[in-house]
Amino acid sequence: MHTLILKRGREKSLLRRHPWIFSGAVDQVQGNPACGETVEIRSAAGEFLAVAAYSPASRISARVWNWEQRVIDTAFIHERVLCAASRRRTLLDAAVTDAARLIHGENDGLPGIVADCYGDTVVVQLLSAGAEHWRDAVADALFALPGVTRVWERSDADVRGLEGLVARCGLLRGPAVAAPLTIREHGLKFQVAVETGHKTGFYLDQRDNRLRLQRLAAGQNVLDCFCYSGGFALNAVAGGAVSVTAIDSSADAISMAQRNAQLNSLAQPEWIEADVFRQQRMFRDQGRTFDLVVLDPPKFAPTAAHAEKAARAYKDINLMAFRLLAPGGALMTYSCSGGINADLFQKIVAGAALDAGVEAYIEGWLHAASDHPVALHFPEGQYLKGLICRLK
Ligand code: SAH
Repeated sequence: MHTLILKRGREKSLLRRHPWIFSGAVDQVQGNPACGETVEIRSAAGEFLAVAAYSPASRISARVWNWEQRVIDTAFIHERVLCAASRRRTLLDAAVTDAARLIHGENDGLPGIVADCYGDTVVVQLLSAGAEHWRDAVADALFALPGVTRVWERSDADVRGLEGLVARCGLLRGPAVAAPLTIREHGLKFQVAVETGHKTGFYLDQRDNRLRLQRLAAGQNVLDCFCYSGGFALNAVAGGAVSVTAIDSSADAISMAQRNAQLNSLAQPEWIEADVFRQQRMFRDQGRTFDLVVLDPPKFAPTAAHAEKAARAYKDINLMAFRLLAPGGALMTYSCSGGINADLFQKIVAGAALDAGVEAYIEGWLHAASDHPVALHFPEGQYLKGLICRLK
């Protein structure tokens, strides 16, 4: 067995069941483990701590598969995949949606593996050396799940580069997709761009929050910043908004959003292809205001190292959004940055309100939907946080 021996005292995070072993904690690599192969993790005193996947190129040298001695093989991967998928059965209501996150990486005991199902199609991302090592086992296990007819791969996220892996995309199992995939959510239909869209094609994590907006939207003038394929904007229309304006800098995203409005026979929002930072200033100069503003920007801080620059960007868009609110209006604001925790995000938003010269109170704390569980010992799992702030 290949073994990573930790430096003295560096076993502490593992004893608290945090599943990452950083390169700085490793004293010695015994044996000659290949990229993605299973290694034992032992303390400086030789005590067994976990079995993990080795990732020589990454700052995260190993990710824990299991806390007890266990052979990691195809049967193990099948068991974990089945367990993750079964957990979703009690979490999701088929009346609400036919799309769900099936595997949420470390939080489901499958580090580096993300899988979303869109009807009968599963889209998987293999984002770590260990995940890549077990690619066939993961694909087979997903393909064997009830109701799955196809497994597609979208392993083209930037984080793969940090693991020394090249991008890989394409069909892994089953027949090619004949028509654009369409999913249902809260009574609306959305086309999912499995091959070209962001992440695995759709932002499933915002499901509950889109419904929350739908319920707030009646009679309101709504602005959706960073609208992607129209998730929030179309829920606002469906919820009876008087007007909906939606901004995204990507022409492809706006076309998807337009198609999604058509698909639901909904009135088209005012779609604006623009940079949010600039467009917000244009609205301010025009004196335009809104009753509800949604800010769902991309990850400004993928890791804590980017936090400072990201904090300035979050502050800027939130400050401008507060200025665009009509009296009594509300801001629904999010951060999906792993490098910005919920406390810091709240502080940034509070600072933005102060500088905008408005007084507001928090009407709700928002999270990812429950098919994106957070392992208690893995705070990084809580990447999506949001607030609804209403002007006093
Ligand atoms: N709210 C969406 C997801 C938003 S993803 C949903 O629920 O589905 C973030 C979006 O921000 C992407 O579509 C991306 O094209 C867009 N984007 C990134 N930077 C931007 C900028 N500076 N201005 C406008 N849009 C931007």
